[in-house]
Amino acid sequence: KRVEIGADVHGIDPTLLDERAVKVVKTLTDAGFEAYIVGGAVRDLLLGVRPKDFDVATNATPQQVKGLFRRAFIIGRRFEIVHVVYGRGREHEVIEVSTFRALPTAATETVAGNEKTSKSELQGKSHAVDASGRVLRDNVWGPQVEDAARRDFTVNAMYYDPQRRLVVDYHGGLADAKAKLLRMIGDPETRYREDPVRIIRAVRFAAKLGFTLEPKTLAPVKSSIALLANVPASRLFDEMIKLLQTGHSLASLAELKKLGLVGQGKPGVFSVLDAMLTASGELPDGVSGKFVRQAFEDTDRRVADGRGVSPSFMLACMLWHEVLGRWTKIRQGGEPPVPALAQAIDAVFDARIGDISGRGKLAADMREIWMMQTRFERRSGSGVFSLIEQPRYRAGFDFLRLRADAGEIDAALADWWEDFALGSDDDRQALLADAR
Ligand code: ATP
Ligand code: MG
Repeated sequence: KRVEIGADVHGIDPTLLDERAVKVVKTLTDAGFEAYIVGGAVRDLLLGVRPKDFDVATNATPQQVKGLFRRAFIIGRRFEIVHVVYGRGREHEVIEVSTFRALPTAATETVAGNEKTSKSELQGKSHAVDASGRVLRDNVWGPQVEDAARRDFTVNAMYYDPQRRLVVDYHGGLADAKAKLLRMIGDPETRYREDPVRIIRAVRFAAKLGFTLEPKTLAPVKSSIALLANVPASRLFDEMIKLLQTGHSLASLAELKKLGLVGQGKPGVFSVLDAMLTASGELPDGVSGKFVRQAFEDTDRRVADGRGVSPSFMLACMLWHEVLGRWTKIRQGGEPPVPALAQAIDAVFDARIGDISGRGKLAADMREIWMMQTRFERRSGSGVFSLIEQPRYRAGFDFLRLRADAGEIDAALADWWEDFALGSDDDRQALLADAR
């Protein structure tokens, strides 16, 4: 049933709203459509947190939405949405507008296949699931009540009308938000089967919001984990990156362990995490565990301060000790340091990342951070100057500093580079002379 909740009860602070999102809603309602702020933004508003992005849901079709805005782009194939863009360059902001989706019906077609299912197989099918029940395509429009029912957790399924200041709630999301409960809408087991990534989303929201999984939502998690094997590696990889960027990366690791997604004594869902955790799912004692823990703590602090997080830097940290181990071994075989490191990096990419398409830039950045570490060992010659001029020098240096802080290398090396980068010409000459 549809419940409308007034401002006196929900207490949303209007100053947390984004002007552009409100404008998008107004443009749509002025044109005679229904439109609301939806999903995570409403949840965050109810928790008194400024949402990092705003989504809008409407009964206008993507084409109709596009027609109402000057810069609007229909994107996505599996799940069509409209990006309404304001501003340019660094200042630009995107409001995602999605059309209310209908619930899957009996008419939903089962497509034998996987993510590589060809376009022609999906042609003309706006709803399609694979043999395990996983949704492959989802573009059937429907009423708001159905749109709400297809969302994942009750706290993610509320709508906010900024003009009338009303929260629309079909599933008791407001009560769950107050009780800090993550409750799956519908039958949890079925919902995990439709989209196993909801398991990882549960981890993310539990860690980020400090919520607990309601017992019925928790119960089928363990037995559903195997379904994640059907999810394309690239989507899992994206979800892992999101976990790292929540600002609660260590809490996310703990939650993954709690739900049995890492540390089962066998390869888990995320091979990158396997690379850095012990068989029981903990960060190891000693230098390698300390290194990653510090990297995660720094990252969480950056997020708290509203600064950006670099996934390539975090991944470089997470895989460093495996790279280091292989590097040492290859060097012991007589290979010179630089080619040995390049070989070690290739091996780790093969083992842990694979060829996830569209990750070229990320991989190149990781490689650069790692390769720079060999150059820090040489404190002489013109290489010193060209190194600090490198655009990615800062990331390489931060990495070196973390290694020093974790006790892997002598802190004096990181100090030297810090002084050198900050120093005057005279300071630099003195430092170069010292290093000889
Ligand atoms: P965040 O603040 O981390 O972005 P969010 O709730 O906004 O959290 P999104 O991934 O941005 O999460 O998704 C927006 C909304 O879309 C969710 O709040 C939820 O209602 C719906 N949604 C997203 N992914 C799923 C899914 N896999 N299954 C069901 N509903 C989903
Ligand atoms: Mg969001």
